[in-house]
Amino acid sequence: MKDRYGRKIEYMRVSITDRCDLRCRYCMPEGCEKVSMSQILTYEEILRICRTASELGISRIKITGGEPFVRLGCTDLIRSIKAIEGIDEVTVTTNGQTLERYIDELKEIGIDGINISLDTLKPDRYTYITGRGELDRTLASIERSVSSGIKTKINCLLQKGFNEDELFDFAELAFRYGIDVRFIEMMPVGAADAGTGVSNTDVLRRLMERWPDLKADRSTHGNGPAVYYKRSGTEGSIGLISAIHGKFCEHCNRVRLTSQGQLKPCLSFDNGTDLRAALKGNDDELRKVMRKAIYEKPEAHSFSDTENNDDHAEHRLMSQIGG
Ligand code: SAM
Ligand code: SF4
Repeated sequence: MKDRYGRKIEYMRVSITDRCDLRCRYCMPEGCEKVSMSQILTYEEILRICRTASELGISRIKITGGEPFVRLGCTDLIRSIKAIEGIDEVTVTTNGQTLERYIDELKEIGIDGINISLDTLKPDRYTYITGRGELDRTLASIERSVSSGIKTKINCLLQKGFNEDELFDFAELAFRYGIDVRFIEMMPVGAADAGTGVSNTDVLRRLMERWPDLKADRSTHGNGPAVYYKRSGTEGSIGLISAIHGKFCEHCNRVRLTSQGQLKPCLSFDNGTDLRAALKGNDDELRKVMRKAIYEKPEAHSFSDTENNDDHAEHRLMSQIGG
């Protein structure tokens, strides 16, 4: 369906848990509070919302969190969402710590893509930024995912003075594996300070200096706002997701469902529609509530370079709202 600004809303990011096996400093710092399981939507409730969303024109779903694979039965949920009429694509985003063991099943289910988040290729830095993670496990997941033939993307968040020196190493992963490697600008949500992030304007300048043959790649790569670049003769592309320095709200096609059942029309605002209440009603009532929430999606986000100053700025952690 279209929202009041005429944008076609066809993509929903579904957070199935606020829990995670890592503690990335900008997303879910040590000591953050967890929501009790009784406040989290059941899989039946998530499926009902996805079915209703598909009736409203949502055809692509991304499973996210928290870390989706820490919730038992995640692959069963993915299988059930894949079976919903009108859902053309189901993908997942993960830190890759346990992904390797699910690859065969995900392949058999026919998952349409896996995004793996990885901010550094150095073991010590990995453990530092993630609080507790092991780099080798995520690297093994990437290898398995790529070799299984599942469409695999790497998402990297560059931070000033921390991992920006690894820019070219990450770009080379795209060329080596023939996959998309995307650089995401840090957004001022929850624990994150966008001032610590590297601007994608700088990223592109440095990439062009290093590889002058990089050219804009205008082929469709997925659901999102990434702008892609490619070198001639290589398979992989480099994507830039520039929420701060390349505002893309005019073309936004998405809404988010938090693990607690809030339908969030825009990441930057704390408000949304509580679907838990609507789930108590019948399907028509649920559809009506969801249609209104999607229709009223805000025109644009309120992020600035370093903060989010709006009265309704989102202060919950990224892991709680679903990144
Ligand atoms: N645990 C999974 C993972 O790490 O991919 C899924 C959830 S995580 C919140 C999804 C993505 O959000 C990750 O790629 C992470 O780097 C990104 N992220 C978290 N906080 C962010 C922020 N403040 N700005 C931009 N991206 C952020
Ligand atoms: Fe967990 Fe993903 Fe957040 Fe890192 S970015 S703490 S892996 S939810």
